[in-house]
Amino acid sequence: MVTLNPELVMRARRDAGLAEVILRARVVTADGAGIVWALRLVGARLPGRVTGIDLAEALAERAAAAGDPIFLLGAGPGVARAAALALTRRHPALRVAGWWDGSPQPRDDAEAARRIRASGARLALVAYGAPAQELWIARNLPALPGVVALGVGGALDMLAGHIPRAPRWMRAAGLEWLYRLWRQPWRWRRMLALPRFALLACGAAALVWLTRRPDTGILAIRDPATAIQARNAGVVAGESGETIAHRGV
Ligand code: UDP
Repeated sequence: MVTLNPELVMRARRDAGLAEVILRARVVTADGAGIVWALRLVGARLPGRVTGIDLAEALAERAAAAGDPIFLLGAGPGVARAAALALTRRHPALRVAGWWDGSPQPRDDAEAARRIRASGARLALVAYGAPAQELWIARNLPALPGVVALGVGGALDMLAGHIPRAPRWMRAAGLEWLYRLWRQPWRWRRMLALPRFALLACGAAALVWLTRRPDTGILAIRDPATAIQARNAGVVAGESGETIAHRGV
């Protein structure tokens, strides 16, 4: 699963390998408010964002109810453990079968995959930041049969209480990026992608308007079984059953 934001889209436009990883993901959600806005411009309506932290929490709740163990990979020293404690405090039935900070470097791949397999986890939350976590998942998923993996960025830091989340009103106003910029000013450089993304979205919207062909292919569930499950659960909107617009898969 990939939670998509404008920075990742702009990077994928320069990096064919990353684009391929995103296109191959089974589930892609709109992490950034910019994605929801851009889709609206081209005629696809999503009810809202589904961020890494929201998805992680919703999936943790599901995993607790289903008895599926989870694994937390990445983040700074001690963070995954603190996030595991916070999650089990919130969901006492949740089994966090393991955690490891490791690193997104390929030299740590085999050890991380070994630990996840040995834990019996069905869900892996991978916190190496984008795009390292997406690339990690694409490289390692074949060695993790039966595991669903999700790149969660700074979600483990948030769960551990090391980074506060933006206030609810800022999230609702699509201003979480501004809050994160204020808390972590070094992020300014990656935000340079945002105006270019906005221009691109306007260009795409103009093209849609000229050709009258709405493009809803950016956010999708591409695996038919997952699409049917999501539709049955009432979490998907879209004519083809391919477009995803959900809260808490
Ligand atoms: N991280 C890591 N190893 C690395 C680079 C990053 O464990 O080599 C972790 C970092 O500690 C943080 C997460 O990856 O927990 C990235 O968070 P960030 O907020 O940058 O991700 P975003 O949400 O912006 O994708």
